[in-house]
Amino acid sequence: MSARRDALSTRLLRRLLGTVPEALYDREPLPAEPDLHVRYLGTAGFVFTGGQRTIVVDPFVSRSGLRATALRPLVPDEALISELIPRADDVLIGHAHYDHVLDGPTLCHQTGARLIGSPAVMQVGRAAGLPEEQLRETRGRERIVCGDAVVQGLPSAHGRVYFNRVTLPGDITEPPSWPPRLRELRHGLVLNWWLEMAGIRVVHIDSAEFFAEELAGLQADVVCLCAIGRHFRPRYVAECVELLRPKLIIPCHWDLFMTPWGSEPALLPGVDLPGFIEEIEATGVQVRVPRIGGELGLLAADLQA
Ligand SMILES: [Zn+2]
Repeated sequence: MSARRDALSTRLLRRLLGTVPEALYDREPLPAEPDLHVRYLGTAGFVFTGGQRTIVVDPFVSRSGLRATALRPLVPDEALISELIPRADDVLIGHAHYDHVLDGPTLCHQTGARLIGSPAVMQVGRAAGLPEEQLRETRGRERIVCGDAVVQGLPSAHGRVYFNRVTLPGDITEPPSWPPRLRELRHGLVLNWWLEMAGIRVVHIDSAEFFAEELAGLQADVVCLCAIGRHFRPRYVAECVELLRPKLIIPCHWDLFMTPWGSEPALLPGVDLPGFIEEIEATGVQVRVPRIGGELGLLAADLQA
């Protein structure tokens, strides 16, 4: 077991799975004073900063290698989390699979932020030793005030991923071990998120599924849309656009999250990122693909023009 072997397997995975063509990445310069500043963390992770608030969704930067993930307890990388995400007021988790939940409790410990999510996510927070006052359980369908922002969980199901199946199904009804093992982190209740920040409305969809009745009547300016599994969800892009009528879609969850932070990412098996972008653009919605660690600055006036 060595760093060299890990580096070798990362290179091999990149060659096997492919990488993002350079031309697909967003190049727009940051406006001087964006209403909403968005930083993409890879996987389904985002940091949204607007008004007086920093809200982080599904942070996962620890990205242990393939063998370590399969064979050992999953240990959040405390130093990296604190370096990359120095501030958070609220941490929203869409479901309790490790690539969505693992780094959330550590980030809450470091920043004092609340962990907001399903009963399964609360059990993971308890396992990590977060005090009850930092845990905010929700089953969705309620507006949660976060300073000058508002968030709401939108009940969903986990999208199908490989072989048309949901990986690690089930719930977490008591605290798992900490650090946890991969198999202990079942998805539990799945929530997509509605965020209202600095006059901009964002919907975050962290696996390729949503229920039309939960999105009906909402209109989003921006949708962060999971790439993996889109082929298994009929009319995924078309229905999302019809329901939410966004101006901008930011694709996410396209990267293999077992390559280390800072190295060129490989695409997850089955993700056709150029095809996903074409499909979105065919609906007339703008697409921007930030690099992992990259930033977008959004202006409410542009999105609502
Ligand atoms: Zn998942």
